[in-house]
Amino acid sequence: MTEWEGLYKGAIERAIKSVPKVKGVLLGYNTNIDAIKYLERKDLEERIEKAGRDEVLKYSEELPEKITSVPQLLGSILWSIRRGKAAELFVESCPVRFYMKRWGWNELRMGGQVGIMANLLGGVYGVPVIAHVPQLSRLQASLFLDGPIYVPKVENGKLKLVHPKEFQGDEESCIHFIYEFPRGFKVLEFEAPRENRFIGAADDYNTTVFIRDEFRENFDEIVKKVQLAIISGLQALTEETYKEPMEILRQHLEVLNDYNIPVHLEFAFTPDEKVRKEILSVLGKFYSVGLNEVELSSIMEVMGEKELAEKLLAHDPVDPIAVTQAMLKLAKETGVKRIHFHTYGYYLALTEYRGEHVRDALLFAALAAAAKAMKGNITSLEEIRDALSVPINEKARMVEEALAKEYSMNNGIAEVEGYQLAFIPTKIVEKPKSTVGIGDTISGSAFVGEFSFVL
Ligand code: ADP
Repeated sequence: MTEWEGLYKGAIERAIKSVPKVKGVLLGYNTNIDAIKYLERKDLEERIEKAGRDEVLKYSEELPEKITSVPQLLGSILWSIRRGKAAELFVESCPVRFYMKRWGWNELRMGGQVGIMANLLGGVYGVPVIAHVPQLSRLQASLFLDGPIYVPKVENGKLKLVHPKEFQGDEESCIHFIYEFPRGFKVLEFEAPRENRFIGAADDYNTTVFIRDEFRENFDEIVKKVQLAIISGLQALTEETYKEPMEILRQHLEVLNDYNIPVHLEFAFTPDEKVRKEILSVLGKFYSVGLNEVELSSIMEVMGEKELAEKLLAHDPVDPIAVTQAMLKLAKETGVKRIHFHTYGYYLALTEYRGEHVRDALLFAALAAAAKAMKGNITSLEEIRDALSVPINEKARMVEEALAKEYSMNNGIAEVEGYQLAFIPTKIVEKPKSTVGIGDTISGSAFVGEFSFVL
């Protein structure tokens, strides 16, 4: 059996030395504000009565397509509570946005994959990042950590890089209102079977992947300042909105490829099938992609691999042979050079190239995820060492055995159909303080970590 604890120790020491050497990462395109409200029974019931109970109940049976009235908002929240299921809807109406604002929040957090990764890579790891922030309000700016985090600003036709707090744009706030409830939360005659949340997005920019002029007009110049790029936020697109942003993305990828900048796509669950197919068609222009089992399954679906898609969701822990088959199909179909898969308990990376550094970067990412789960927030690279004390997930042993049997995997590395397959068992925090944005922490750390190991 592999000596994982030793490998973990080696990986974090390696990362502490190497990661700060990375000179620049470009992050596009989604940044927003997450406003978290913990629901209270009495308050919610009063609001439901005031808005009209029958009207509200109607929407708790079937979600509206988007939110244009207060009863729709309250009904959608109720829809989530009744089922213990997450849901997210666009809030179109200004009066409803105003209603939500006055209802208030308990906590404000950085939101959007770009915002989260900017704070992690720039604010915590000290790696310079250039972030795309669709709208930079004062509130949005205040959520950025200090450190080498930059946004482009054009003054007298000249491009400058400034910290978001120095941008001083009096732009709009893109707020995602997150209504959270615990398991057993009671309202009217309903009780939540699980803890979960409903999200109302008061955001016209990230929801359509609006791309700023600063990025459209100066992209060449921006790209010259970075060594890596990470793209995310495409999940919000729909059949109606995808054309223009996808066209800009193609242009951006062309420039990035011209400069030989490896680009990672952080794939998040994309409900629209047409958009998923569209993303699949540009995946070959990316160097790397990061996803979980639900996302990989949804890609297999649009590739016509129904059986494999189902298999990926059928077992716990997720069947690693099915994952490997799916990753091979995806790599062969698109030509993407690196696929990083993460699930509860283990990660895999399928790469066109070889080396233990791929596995070590996964180990670094798993420690970062465990540190985040443990503390809620990481404040320095060194602090990630603390997660070494978290035990390795026991279930992952079965996964490792299955991979050893099928692919003769040794020390987490195997050769499969001309690709390298790297595997690691993760450390799982029993009672996590927070798991928001943990997927972004995993993918960002692994991608940047791997690159830094060969610098
Ligand atoms: P999100 O969108 O919430 O970030 P993802 O599915 O992308 O969700 O990421 C969740 C990942 O976080 C899981 O695949 C798992 O590897 C990791 N994870 C979840 N809970 C824990 C925990 N308690 N300790 C360590 N890692 C965790």
